[in-house]
Amino acid sequence: MRTFFLIKPGEIELKLGNKHEFTQRLKDQIHRRLKGLHFDLEEYPGRFFLSIEDKDSKLALFVLQHCPGINGVARAIKTDKRVDSIVQAAIECAEAEVTSGAGSFKVETRRSDKSFPLDSYGMSVAAADAVLERFPALSVDVHTPDFVLMIEIRERAYIYSSTAPGPRGLPVGSQGKGLLLLSGGIDSPVAGYMMARRGLALESVYFHTYPYTSLEAQRKVERLAARVAIWTGGMHMWAVPFTEVQQAIARGPREEANTLMLRMAMMQASELIARHIHSRAIVTGESLGQVASQTAENMRLAQSPASLPVFRPLIGIDKEETISLARHIGTYDISILPYEDCCVLFSPKHPILKPDFGELLAYFESLELGNVIKTSVENAEEKVLHFTDALKEYGYQIDPGNHEQTLMDVGV
Ligand code: ATP
Ligand code: MG
Repeated sequence: MRTFFLIKPGEIELKLGNKHEFTQRLKDQIHRRLKGLHFDLEEYPGRFFLSIEDKDSKLALFVLQHCPGINGVARAIKTDKRVDSIVQAAIECAEAEVTSGAGSFKVETRRSDKSFPLDSYGMSVAAADAVLERFPALSVDVHTPDFVLMIEIRERAYIYSSTAPGPRGLPVGSQGKGLLLLSGGIDSPVAGYMMARRGLALESVYFHTYPYTSLEAQRKVERLAARVAIWTGGMHMWAVPFTEVQQAIARGPREEANTLMLRMAMMQASELIARHIHSRAIVTGESLGQVASQTAENMRLAQSPASLPVFRPLIGIDKEETISLARHIGTYDISILPYEDCCVLFSPKHPILKPDFGELLAYFESLELGNVIKTSVENAEEKVLHFTDALKEYGYQIDPGNHEQTLMDVGV
């Protein structure tokens, strides 16, 4: 037996000019993420339909609910466009709801086929009457029903009762690629999720200070990357050895500027990687005023070695909101595991709050970090987190032999 899903694409419906390209992207994303399973995907204006073996339906729903560009997913029944068939399907759909305890409902019909003999209201009434006759304990409640029975009359008829939410936003890759600065904290994975929903495919970079930071700390960041990858559809992670850069900074005379210099060095290294991977933007988890280094002046300095735009999707979001997003995307529990952060190792006792831009830029230059930064990037270790690795984090398995590609390979 097969399960049939009705998929509601998100914002791409609003894109008049490049709707076709966006639709292709979303289709491609769904194909990639479900690769290795047997399914059929059909596309009609405003709707996709996926049919898959029952045994894989739970996994498919999970994948679709994490695929940016999808607004919602519903298990649906498809029928021909005879009123009888539609009513029969409506009863079947209501039965599932009644079995799980629903007591009230309403029917909504959308009819894009204007040649259909009943108007929307007439179809809703016919279906509601039949459902009430079959389940006399049910009642109609148009304001706060336990379930809404949806009927869509289009190329065929589709009947469904509940829609699971998708991430909304734009299909991954439709805005090109970004490089996410991923630390082990709470914020940066959330920033990655937010930009994936704006259509950025992501690779990530993690700066470590081994042996001052442990391998466990890096493993934790890899797990975070795998969790972000459930939204991005796979992710490459560059682990950059930054110990020598930090030591070079620490040898400089101005201890109070160490954190700022480190941020600038990270940005310079990120720019090198971003160029190498054809990334159009750099993404961080900074939020205005959250810590001493996240003031407007400090951010101006920190980003100065980069010429690509720096996206900070959390800039206006408070910690509580970030935490609830982190819980929502499944990264919070990993983020709070206690492993040291490379940035706190050499941090000054009295960090600079009001930097003098010109003076500190000159100081950064005087440290002559260019070569040591370049070497650190050349020694970066590339980890590939496949979409299947992300699924594994959530306890799902797809035969990895069928699923070797990640987004990187398609030149987004
Ligand atoms: P997070 O919770 O994301 O670590 P934070 O509130 O701890 O953020 P900072 O430590 O000041 O803030 O870092 C700000 C941003 O700089 C992070 O969100 C991340 O994008 C980037 N960043 C910090 N440390 C690293 C690192 N070791 N590797 C890669 N990126 C980093
Ligand atoms: Mg941090």
